[in-house]
Amino acid sequence: MNSWPKVYLPPLEGIEYPSLKLVDSNKGLVELDNGSNFAIYVCGITPYDATHLGHAATYLAFDLINRYKILSGSTVNFVENITDIDDPLLERAKRDNQGWQDLASKQIDLFSSDMSALRVLPPDSFIKVTDSLALIEDFISRLDKAGYLYKLDSDYYFSVGKFLDQMRMPIEQAIEIFAERGGDPKRAGKQHQLDPVIWIGNRDGEPGWASSYGFGRPGWHVECTAIACNYLDKSGSNPIIDLQGGGSDLAFPHHFMSAQIVKAAYGRDFAKYFVHAAMIGLAGEKMSKSKGNLVFVSKLLTQQVDPMVIRWALLSGHYQQDRQWSDNLLAVANDQVTAIRSALARSEVAQSEQLIKDLASDISNNLDTPAALARLIKWAKQSESNPTVNQSGLVSRTIDALLGLAL
Ligand code: ZN
Repeated sequence: MNSWPKVYLPPLEGIEYPSLKLVDSNKGLVELDNGSNFAIYVCGITPYDATHLGHAATYLAFDLINRYKILSGSTVNFVENITDIDDPLLERAKRDNQGWQDLASKQIDLFSSDMSALRVLPPDSFIKVTDSLALIEDFISRLDKAGYLYKLDSDYYFSVGKFLDQMRMPIEQAIEIFAERGGDPKRAGKQHQLDPVIWIGNRDGEPGWASSYGFGRPGWHVECTAIACNYLDKSGSNPIIDLQGGGSDLAFPHHFMSAQIVKAAYGRDFAKYFVHAAMIGLAGEKMSKSKGNLVFVSKLLTQQVDPMVIRWALLSGHYQQDRQWSDNLLAVANDQVTAIRSALARSEVAQSEQLIKDLASDISNNLDTPAALARLIKWAKQSESNPTVNQSGLVSRTIDALLGLAL
């Protein structure tokens, strides 16, 4: 489907880009090559609730990676899915007595307008699961042929047992997390408690699609792998994509299972890197639907909060550190954005060449946005006290391109 409108990325000339370093969840600090093709898949929303600040923080982190890779000369192919058929969506539609497709469609529009307001570059492909049933079925048949699929009543499961030596946590802990995040470890008849469902046979009143595995709908993990492999595997490379990203709550089981499912189906590794963004909390608790403490981007925008202030506030913390949202954080961000705007409006500002070099270096250093923003605040102060050069336009373009802050 169409993603949101293109976001202008100002061209920046004469800047040296250090190669991008990221902290991979399995490998630790990794260094990515500049200039090559870069295939990135970011797990998208389940469209039943608008974009909360936890979502926004995650998509901003991968937006910074996308921007940096493009600016430093890579040809980026960025794919994001929309899980527009899933238990929470069906439950919410039923609760609110509305059609699940209407609910999904409204929430996708809202998400797109939130991303657009926050100046997140749109993905090259923005793919709904409900538009991908044929390729998901094709992927499942690969698993089937490879002997990793088994039937239980009218459902089909992936047999993960052979791959569990890849797991980086004790089995008891894995089973506990698996159950918390949509898994069904206690279901009788499964070959292993951690086996994830791949095809859900039709349940009364639920939407479904005809397939060689009966009438039903796909399980979560296989949706992402099928979409990623279809849109990003252009060269038969191993691994199939460069980076899979999402929130840290997706690391297990979702990304672990995705990697094993692809290995089983294709005999190749799925992603070279797995990068996860941390969680945003409110008043000491993780922001989550179950706690009912979500702060929505759209609500802040309705209250006339400047989207660039929201972006600044989220970037003022490091993307891989769990952090807290507060009214005070927003107020501080508002003051800081005002200070930067006031500096950028001057005809003369402080020396900027080193600033620009340092900003690129900060982002290349595992997206160190707190350092970058602190540097900008210092520069704004110097611009008030010691303005010497006419370079505000250059600074403005640089922070727009690198940080997505159009100030
Ligand atoms: Zn996913």
